[in-house]
Amino acid sequence: MADQLRFDGQVVVVTGAGGGLGKAYATFFASRGASVVVNDLGGSFKGEGNDSKAADVVVNEIKAAGGKAVANYNSVEDGDKIIETAIKAFGRIDVLINNAGILRDISFKNMKDQDWDLIFKVHVRGSYKCARAAWPYFRKQKYGRVINTASAAGLFGNFGQANYSAAKLAMVGFTETLAKEGAKYNIISNVIAPVAASRMTETIMPPDVLALMKPEWVVPLVAVLVHKNNTSESGSIFEVGGGHIAKLRWERSSGLLCKCDDSYTPSALLKKWDRVTDFSNPQHPTGPADFLTLLEDSQKLGRNEQ
Ligand code: NAD
Repeated sequence: MADQLRFDGQVVVVTGAGGGLGKAYATFFASRGASVVVNDLGGSFKGEGNDSKAADVVVNEIKAAGGKAVANYNSVEDGDKIIETAIKAFGRIDVLINNAGILRDISFKNMKDQDWDLIFKVHVRGSYKCARAAWPYFRKQKYGRVINTASAAGLFGNFGQANYSAAKLAMVGFTETLAKEGAKYNIISNVIAPVAASRMTETIMPPDVLALMKPEWVVPLVAVLVHKNNTSESGSIFEVGGGHIAKLRWERSSGLLCKCDDSYTPSALLKKWDRVTDFSNPQHPTGPADFLTLLEDSQKLGRNEQ
């Protein structure tokens, strides 16, 4: 108990908390002293319909265990209303977990605008709207913690998920920028690519694999990242599931620097292609300025190689 990470007095908003990972986060934070906004639209995993029952069941469960929680049934597309629920019920917001999600899996050949747009509305616009509404509170109190939810499909691509993978990789860029803009105000943002048994994965993973992937086993990483003691890990990407936690980062080959004159032709580039793709001496860039610094340093060192 003494070394338990606690969240007493804090207000945590979890979107899509009516089931799966969101429910695991909500019940955990309530059990560790936080007041929790349990948001869920209560639709199908394809984003159809709505039902207040999903959020209500979780709120009742938390209250029955002696915790504090309030339900919100808005779509994350109306993020301001979700944050308003936190302010009205508990007077503040400390942690935002952008977790709500849907799938519209279909091969790219057969994808319709509706499949693309709905995925972007829920994942990208929804995460934006919730974070945007929480941001002024975070800045004012000089404290905030954000978790955004990506996916391995976003990091690596996945058959039948062009819409979902594009939206999920957007969460990475979004998080990296929030981390940079929030640093001055002690607003820490990280992004996770989870793997867990839920209604989203129950039809695509076999039962023995699902048994190894309890949503509860994603929770400890999220708890560490949003705890007040985490003051350094921000703008980071993590893969997490089944008890395995790993950090990912960008890697750039040391690359080829060409002299920008008439000798810089496609065929000259092709001759040295192995240099472009050589990862034997990799770099790990963390910002756009990094590339310009690299060019400047190369010029200074006279590294005009070609
Ligand atoms: P889930 O379907 O069990 O939970 C998602 C919840 O979000 C549902 O309760 C749903 O009602 C809610 N929701 C959907 N649209 C909403 C909206 N517009 N507004 C409010 N709530 C809405 O799925 P899950 O597996 O727990 O997924 C949680 C998150 O993790 C999602 O963002 C998902 O894309 C991501 N993810 C999950 C896995 C996995 O292995 N389960 C893998 C990669 C990413």
